[in-house]
Amino acid sequence: MPKDQPILDTSPKVSDEVRQTTCYMCACRCGINVHMKEGKVAYIEGNKDHPVNQGVLCAKGSAGIMQVNAPSRLKTPLKRVGPRGSGEFEEISWEEALTIATDWLAPVREEDPSKLAFFTGRDQSQSFTSLWAQGFGTPNYAAHGGFCSVNMAAAGIYTMGGAFWEFGQPDWDHTKMFVLFGVAEDHDSNPIKMGIGKIKERGARMVGVNPIRTGYNAVADDWFGITPGTDGLLIMALIHELFKAGKLDLDYLARFTNASCIVNEDPSSDENGLLLCDDDGQPQVIDRNTGHLAPWNGKGVEPDLGTTYRHAGVTHRPVFHLMADRFLDPQYAPENVAEATGISADRIKQLAADMAHVAFEEAIELDRPWTDFRGKKHATMVGRPVSMHAMRGISAHSNGFQTCRALHTLQIILGAVETPGGMRFKPPYPKPATAHPKPHGKVTPGEALNGPHLGYPHGPEDLMLKDDGSAIRIDKAFTWENPLSAHGMMHMVISNAHAGDPYKIDTLFMYMANMSWNSSMNSTGVMEMLTDTDEDGEYVIPRIIYSDAYSSEMVAFADLILPDTTYLERHDCISLLDRPICEADAVADAIRWPVIEPDRDVRGFQSVLCDLGARLNLPGFVNDDGSQKYEDYADYITNHIRRPGIGPLAGWRMGEKGTQDGRGEPNEGQIDSYISNGGFWHAEVPKDAAYYKPFNMGYQDWAVEMGFFDSVQPYIFTPYVEPLRRMQLAAEGHGRVQPPDHLRDQVKDTMDPLPIWYAPLSDNRIDTDEFNVHALTQRPMAMYHSWGSQNAWLRQLHGRNPLYVPTKIWEQHGFEEGSWAKVTSPSGVITVPVMHMAALNENTVWTWNAIGKRKGAWALDEKAPEATEGFLLNHLIHELLPEQTDGMRWSNSDPVTGQAAWFDLRVKIEKVAAPAEAQPVTPPQKSPVPKGPSKLAWKVGK
Ligand code: SF4
Repeated sequence: MPKDQPILDTSPKVSDEVRQTTCYMCACRCGINVHMKEGKVAYIEGNKDHPVNQGVLCAKGSAGIMQVNAPSRLKTPLKRVGPRGSGEFEEISWEEALTIATDWLAPVREEDPSKLAFFTGRDQSQSFTSLWAQGFGTPNYAAHGGFCSVNMAAAGIYTMGGAFWEFGQPDWDHTKMFVLFGVAEDHDSNPIKMGIGKIKERGARMVGVNPIRTGYNAVADDWFGITPGTDGLLIMALIHELFKAGKLDLDYLARFTNASCIVNEDPSSDENGLLLCDDDGQPQVIDRNTGHLAPWNGKGVEPDLGTTYRHAGVTHRPVFHLMADRFLDPQYAPENVAEATGISADRIKQLAADMAHVAFEEAIELDRPWTDFRGKKHATMVGRPVSMHAMRGISAHSNGFQTCRALHTLQIILGAVETPGGMRFKPPYPKPATAHPKPHGKVTPGEALNGPHLGYPHGPEDLMLKDDGSAIRIDKAFTWENPLSAHGMMHMVISNAHAGDPYKIDTLFMYMANMSWNSSMNSTGVMEMLTDTDEDGEYVIPRIIYSDAYSSEMVAFADLILPDTTYLERHDCISLLDRPICEADAVADAIRWPVIEPDRDVRGFQSVLCDLGARLNLPGFVNDDGSQKYEDYADYITNHIRRPGIGPLAGWRMGEKGTQDGRGEPNEGQIDSYISNGGFWHAEVPKDAAYYKPFNMGYQDWAVEMGFFDSVQPYIFTPYVEPLRRMQLAAEGHGRVQPPDHLRDQVKDTMDPLPIWYAPLSDNRIDTDEFNVHALTQRPMAMYHSWGSQNAWLRQLHGRNPLYVPTKIWEQHGFEEGSWAKVTSPSGVITVPVMHMAALNENTVWTWNAIGKRKGAWALDEKAPEATEGFLLNHLIHELLPEQTDGMRWSNSDPVTGQAAWFDLRVKIEKVAAPAEAQPVTPPQKSPVPKGPSKLAWKVGK
């Protein structure tokens, strides 16, 4: 260094102290270092040691400082004094708030617990909140999965024991071709960015399939601007090509999937279409060693994909034959799907050929011996380095479940799941549908429900139906309308409760769910339902309790507000019992803890439930003497036991010789151990257990040791899903539990045990020539739902949300910079500013979600761009499909899982003169918190 250069301190001390916790500016749950000065948050950075983000921090994460200081934070419990929706409240004490809640809820529990509907939004404590709801005894509990991505989750669980994000990820270290289907860019945010960075560094290829080329798709080597709702058709065409070319991993399909299982094809049998089983109920394969039937898991069995079995005069075939019939059907030939998908046949063929080339000509082999569940020893781990990832883009359609199933089937036929370079599960996943609970809904006044609310039905007997065939649940989940609604149907709760269909409720209790605005379809209609009164002048939904940290639009519609803390002021537990933060090579969980104390009279919602649960005498929340069992959520996290030796956190449990991983007794010092370790715990998966997890005895033994299961449970993937066939069989007239006649055809058509594609349901009920434009929303990387667009820093990135219009439509209508458009759907009209975007499917318009705000909400100025130019597409999406010829209307959901079909929306568009602000204008609501200052600036410490 030249001697006259000044000496700079390149790492000045920026804080008095660093407190390590878990980010909650989106649901990725990265580790963060919160730098403190004089007891206040000065700066947030990523935690380099954390398994999720390894030090990476996104724009949202660093803006956390603006979230914990947001003017919109609620300050104290509130009781409504004005009309519902007005935003007029009086401040009350916690004692008064909890007394009101107890006085409302105790009689409901004694008389009919199903009159409480308890639904939570994007919280990360579902194993806890569901326990509370079970103790209360209501069948009406779910979180937000039904309006988010349940199609992805349920298709993954039923097909192979898990899907993407929290359940699985590409093998970023080995993959050579990464294909990304529609994702929300704020989900799995840092891990995907880091993964894409890794593969780009190695020169691996990335392909994006998405109508819109933003975010991840913008850095893809190749982009397929597909027509919304046709992803399944494209995937079926890819499978068609691979079957036609014989580019399939036959050995993998035979050994590790039910492609080798024999199907009962006796048309006279009640089991027609089900797998042929032995007396122990084990599905049968043909063993190539003997040529005879053998159980799928028999020691030394070598399953055959080709041989048929003749029984009672009927030839029974392996699933593989049925797959060939389905996927070789000419309707899935590239030439026949090109027009609908908007992708040329040549490009489809090339994509299939590229996948085949990478999977089979560029296969990799890791020198890791392992033993499968049939006792066969494998000298190496063979990899097919094609990986995929998808989320809400392909799942939020009424054909989304089968589309997601098709995607998993594509991965499976390539042999690219749980193999090097393909997709890898994150422990404790994979976990097949049979390892999950079934839904429960038996209500007994004054008692707990008979089991967990949500789960995976295996046949008609598992549906949540009353003896008269009506729905047990207010959202009609697990009925013939949507039999496999594994996450419930939160988007139908308010609409059904308002209609009294299937019954009326007394109290709607919600947490962190902005249901009167961006989290509902038909936002205007929902506001009317929440404020509607009956002939006696009473509200149709009599009581609404709501908990949120912020003055969101939903606050004004509640009668009682229980103000929550921000994420840096609370205990939380990101548990293996919920949605884990694991990586493919490590099992991990994490906590949040109060790195700052609230400066307001607010309480963590989970701690409030501990208190309320005790006041209501809920099982699991009181001791034998009736006293409160858990002082607060931290106490629950430490001391709750779910199964012997298993609690919410898996790290630093107490054993005979001190602390241990996985199983063990509660440890009073557990949370402190997490804090000392940076807020997380993780344990590496042994090397010989890192791939082939469901089939690998090394992994199975380790999983039992860690407490994921109590005994080894190897299983095979199921491209053929029997529970779907059982529902179809019922629709064909077999069995005791029968669908109503008007739903028989829908069940037969949509619940196929092999993947199929059908057009989005609303396309058959509207004039697609008139409504000829697809309309989508996306969430940007820099915003997480409505939280971000009130954040002083993030608002500078996305303060308004124009409607992006592709070149063809832009020119057709003569739009120019500054133009506005009237956008009409079959159920609504909005008028909004437009902007040209070339990298977009030519028949699709789109906008960012949840930027538009209602005047008076979020402590924003009524003239803020979010409230004047920002808008919601939700006004155009109805929660019900258009009326059928018989006068019936069905929910705008996937008929298999009940997933909200947000992205089936079709509109027409026309150029109009610019109004003063985006339409419709919803009248302002009073703010229960003061407006934020016009300039927000402060300095923490010196
Ligand atoms: S990706 Fe999500 S969890 Fe991670 S730093 Fe960003 S906002 Fe926080």
